[in-house]
Amino acid sequence: MTTSNEIAIKHTHQSQLSKVDFNNLDFGKYISDHMVVANYAHSSWSQPEIVPYGDLLMSPAMLSLHYGQSIFEGMKAFKMKDGNISIFRLKKHHTRMNKSLARMCMPEIIESMFIEALRTLIELDHRWVPSNEGASLYIRPIVFASEARLGVKVSDLYKFIIMTTPVGPYFSKPYRLKVEDHYVRTAEGGTGFAKCAGNYGGAFYPTQVAKEEGFDQVLWTDHKDHQYIDEVGMMNVMFVINGKLITPSLNTAILDGVTRDSILTLAKEMNFPTEERRIKLEELEKGFKDGSITEAFGAGTAAVVAPIQSIRIHGIDYTIPLPDSNSFQLKVKKQLMDIRTGEAEDKHQWNYIVKTK
Ligand SMILES: *Cc1c(COP(=O)(O)O)cnc(C)c1O
Repeated sequence: MTTSNEIAIKHTHQSQLSKVDFNNLDFGKYISDHMVVANYAHSSWSQPEIVPYGDLLMSPAMLSLHYGQSIFEGMKAFKMKDGNISIFRLKKHHTRMNKSLARMCMPEIIESMFIEALRTLIELDHRWVPSNEGASLYIRPIVFASEARLGVKVSDLYKFIIMTTPVGPYFSKPYRLKVEDHYVRTAEGGTGFAKCAGNYGGAFYPTQVAKEEGFDQVLWTDHKDHQYIDEVGMMNVMFVINGKLITPSLNTAILDGVTRDSILTLAKEMNFPTEERRIKLEELEKGFKDGSITEAFGAGTAAVVAPIQSIRIHGIDYTIPLPDSNSFQLKVKKQLMDIRTGEAEDKHQWNYIVKTK
């Protein structure tokens, strides 16, 4: 047992790194050697520890399995051109995690504990950060209720874990979408703005139905009358209409995506006009008919941008031109990648730097 900056480290005896084929990284296939673990009991979090990645012992009566107190985050670390590692917008991800925790009646985690534990983990497993272009180390923090008890209650015990997985460059094939006007992912006042496990569980079935109908994802609409656009699958959605970047304004049914926020910020820097407001289906129908919609894409950590090739609205498939190298989405994606790797100036202090010595 060695310690570094108060985070105790139990080293693995059997690194799995040599088994990783860095040229062929399926998302989540290989999990890195170590993980962060902290426990919450008696109204406080224990000091996090780093231990070899592996199974946990748990009770079938663990409350998160029954009543769903379970949240997560998703962010990425990149190899920079100077050999150091950058974790992208770590603080914003931490703030959002605390919002998810508060909504699910779970204990928040202070920033210094979160950052110190993650920094120590990335330093230790720095060899797991891929260096090929567009590849990264995906970081997955989770918090879940761990008390074993069958009665319905807010758990008194929780576990916080951070694990990581190397991921390759993600080129999504352009999405064919269907506007979802029957099922909802969430509703205003619900948990849509929180990254809680149940939002995903509830979205699987409508998405599966859409896939059976030949679509890749659904375009979620508001729960009241399915008139306004919310999100695409598990990404925020953005359109270029009449030369303006337009995305739905945030509400409690929409996840406050870090990629969405970063793209809006960069668009302003690129003097590309932006608008955050409600987007009505009728406006999209009209825009597709008169050709004023020139781009449509999803925005999220996994893909950065995922182009949309068609959307079915009220039985009609509208097609969107595929992005060329002059498109806003490919320019902004490149700018974002350049900031992360240190090729472009990091004006907003988005990179949290981990030195690899
Ligand atoms: C995670 C997530 C996003 C994307 O957020 P990023 O911070 O950009 O990765 C969008 N919508 C939903 C529902 C999500 O869970």
